[in-house]
Amino acid sequence: MRIRNLFFALLAVFALHATRLPAAEKSPAPDTEPPKVTPGQNGAPPSDAIVLFDGNDLSKWVNDKGGAADWTVNDGVVTVSGTNQMFTKQAFGDCQLHVEWASPNPPKGKGQARGNSGIYFQSRYEVQVLDSWDNPTYFNGQAGSIYKQYPPLVNACRQPGEWQTYDIIFHAPRFADDGKVLSPARVTLLHNGVLVLDDVKIKGLTHFDKAPTHYVKHNLKEPLRLQNHHSAVRFRNIWIREL
Ligand code: MG
Repeated sequence: MRIRNLFFALLAVFALHATRLPAAEKSPAPDTEPPKVTPGQNGAPPSDAIVLFDGNDLSKWVNDKGGAADWTVNDGVVTVSGTNQMFTKQAFGDCQLHVEWASPNPPKGKGQARGNSGIYFQSRYEVQVLDSWDNPTYFNGQAGSIYKQYPPLVNACRQPGEWQTYDIIFHAPRFADDGKVLSPARVTLLHNGVLVLDDVKIKGLTHFDKAPTHYVKHNLKEPLRLQNHHSAVRFRNIWIREL
C-alpha cells in the first residue's frame, strides 16, 4: 500500500513538472507530421510568418500612446524619427524574430550615442542595436548584447550604412500566480548569421543604467517594442513566427 502511495506521489510530481514546462519544450508525438512551411527566398519571410513590416506601412504598429506609429517610411525602409517608440499591436510570447537594420552613415556621436536603437521583447527585455563598428562602449551595451546583462560572444557588426540581420529565438518567462519566476526568459541571437547569444537566461527587467535586479510578472504574450534612442537607425523586412 505504501509503495502504491509513493508511486502516485511521484506520478503527481512528474505531472506537475510536465505542466510547468513551456509549451515549446514539448516535442510533438513522433507519429505527428510536422506542418509544411515554405521558406522565403533571399531573406523573404517564410510562409507561416507574421509580417510586421513589409516596407509599405506601419499598420501593425502603434506609438507610446496607442496612436498611429509615426516613424518615417520611405523606399521600403522605416527610419527612427520623432520622439515615440514603436510597439506591435499584436502581443507575442515564444517566437522567432527576423529584423534587418542599418546604422546611420556617416556615423554621428560616440559609444551609446552612435546608432542606438533596440528590440525589446515583451516591451521589457532589450536586445541592443548599436553601431559597434569601431565604436567602443561597455561590452554588455554593444550590438548583439542583452543590454546590461550579456555581451555578445563575438562582435559581428558590419560597417555603418550596411544592412545587418538579427535572427532571434525568444522564450517568454513563466510566472506563478504569486509572481514567482517559474522559468526565466531565454534568448538566442544570430547577428549576420553568426551566433552571438547562445540561449542566455534573462535576469530581469532591462534598466538603462544598471544590471537587472528582478522580474515583474506580466502576461505570457506582450507587444514587441522598437526603441527610439534618437539615432536615425533604419529597419526593414521585419517578420515573426510564433512558436
Ligand atoms: Mg538601445
